[in-house]
Amino acid sequence: MDAPIIELAARVKDIKASPTLAVDAKAKALKAEGADVLNFSVGEPDFDTPPHVCEAGKAAIDERFTRYTPVPGILPLREAVCSRLSADHGWHYQPDQVQVSCGGKHGLYNMAQALFGPGDEVLIPAPYWVSYPPIIQLAGATPVIVPLDEESDFDLDPAVLHQYVSPRTRGIILNSPSNPTGSVLSARALEAIGKMALERGWAVITDDIYDTIVYGSDKLPHILDVDPRLSEQTLILNGVSKSFAMTGWRIGYTAGPKHIIAAMNKIQSQSTSNPSSVAQRAALAALTGPQDFPVAMRDAFVPRLAFIMEALTAMEGISCVRPRGSFYVFPNMSWCYGRKAKDGQVIADSVSLADYLLEKALLATVPGAAFGADSFIRFSFATSMEVLEEGMKRLAVALGELH
Ligand code: PMP
Ligand code: GLU
Repeated sequence: MDAPIIELAARVKDIKASPTLAVDAKAKALKAEGADVLNFSVGEPDFDTPPHVCEAGKAAIDERFTRYTPVPGILPLREAVCSRLSADHGWHYQPDQVQVSCGGKHGLYNMAQALFGPGDEVLIPAPYWVSYPPIIQLAGATPVIVPLDEESDFDLDPAVLHQYVSPRTRGIILNSPSNPTGSVLSARALEAIGKMALERGWAVITDDIYDTIVYGSDKLPHILDVDPRLSEQTLILNGVSKSFAMTGWRIGYTAGPKHIIAAMNKIQSQSTSNPSSVAQRAALAALTGPQDFPVAMRDAFVPRLAFIMEALTAMEGISCVRPRGSFYVFPNMSWCYGRKAKDGQVIADSVSLADYLLEKALLATVPGAAFGADSFIRFSFATSMEVLEEGMKRLAVALGELH
């Protein structure tokens, strides 16, 4: 008799695996087979973690700092987060208002589990980061997608937001600078969101993970600067993955109201227990040591951004909003939908375009559909200038062959 096939839970059938990580894995597998793939897919700095941060990790091992830590993370790290929030923004948090998690992604997961459940709706402006809707779904709640417009630089229009609000709305996720567009939310949009959130008691999740990668000198508007009362219902998500090129160390953090952090800690205590002790020591070195690394990395992205913007917008039919932060560009490629490749393959949408670019030009990108915006394709420019130059050449040739 054959062994029975175990049925999976409904919640896992309703979600897809992370498409950004999936494309990255595919690109790396092709590369391992010897293909000359240029990887513009995953959002990961092409820098190494700074040496002093690595040394702190090594020292933690040598000192045998290798046991369970407190569930919310080690106190010095939570204190360092509070100091940063105070020094950078003038926001005052206590260590019991901070949770350190296994990457920002898991902070978001803990938040969703602590705040939302069946019947609750959570507003997510689109284009959105790929993991927001599934994380909300995994909590049993419903993501409600609010479309943003390329014409208004992907800013949020309060009148549009109103159309998606219902008595079941319990929260909203903001991401400024945004992955995948690089756009930032205007003070006007944030004021309108803040007003609605205060009136209706929404939880506001502000994902600030790209806040060190900002182009231009203007201070970005922030929801917490709209009205100090919002701090009672706002959760700030951040981490060291992007700012200190520490994606593999898996350290993120959340700051927010004490009772919500306590609820998140309960969930963390029953799931991961705590993030890696060694990685926490490294993150502590990152947050308390010299702060020149994020600035140098941002400065290195400036010429790459200039290059890729110029190359893309010089290609016929492509429009692209200039990012104000992050290391992504999100060009509108829909002019070529409906066209055919040399072998007769029809480019129907962003998924088929990304497939075509990977198969024919060995360019790994992420289709806009993964971000809820099918007209677009995401390129990460956290890669060398040589790769960017070669990539844009290949893109022009591949697009030129469509008719
Ligand atoms: N938010 C956004 C918008 C992201 O792009 C990412 C991806 N790294 C994260 C959160 C989570 O990052 P991590 O889990 O690596 O800290
Ligand atoms: N956030 C990055 C991206 O969008 C890393 C991959 C992931 O966590 O989804 O590519």
